[in-house]
Amino acid sequence: MSAFNPKTQDHKLASKMIVALERISETFRVLLWEEAKKHQLSPIQIQLLIFLLYHPKEQRKVSYLAKEFNMTKATVSDSIRVLFKKELITKEKDPNDTRSYTIDLSPSGTAIAQQCSVFTNPIEKSIQQLSNDQQDLILDGLMHLINGLNSDGVITVQRMCRNCAQYRYTEGKHYCSLLELYLKTTELRVDCPEHSPKTAS
Ligand code: SF4
Repeated sequence: MSAFNPKTQDHKLASKMIVALERISETFRVLLWEEAKKHQLSPIQIQLLIFLLYHPKEQRKVSYLAKEFNMTKATVSDSIRVLFKKELITKEKDPNDTRSYTIDLSPSGTAIAQQCSVFTNPIEKSIQQLSNDQQDLILDGLMHLINGLNSDGVITVQRMCRNCAQYRYTEGKHYCSLLELYLKTTELRVDCPEHSPKTAS
């Protein structure tokens, strides 16, 4: 039964949640489009610029970006080519592999990425109107959901606590063995710079 059938939604909470998530995803899409139009870039080019602004060198390669955005390397390369032509990025060749390179933002690319990086402000404003308890519950639910989708292979790269080799959950408490700290639910990270992927046992 389709989640989009209003009759299904009447008796199935998961269906209502899917439709609600779709509305949120639509909000992202609309806001991103508006930002992209302002800079005469495509939505994915804007997302790439923002990602490059905040992530380290080892994550700024075509192969990593393809996994991050669940796209083919060819599609990412096309966007990178346009950004390079517009002088918004530079490429640094890997001395050990001439086919591979790291991508850096140019000064004008950095300026655009900084302007665009707040495109989600209207969503943030709405979230801040929720109570702390509501925010806490939603964050916990979303992290479980993302982790499940990642485990099922629907989405690829994640850098969240729940799928980190350093994460422990004991006696109802979250613990990071790298930081040697107990974390509140609101302190769990969704994009952690120190994240270490779990290795298959
Ligand atoms: S290293 Fe980062 S992602 Fe991993 S458990 Fe610690 S805070 Fe979470």
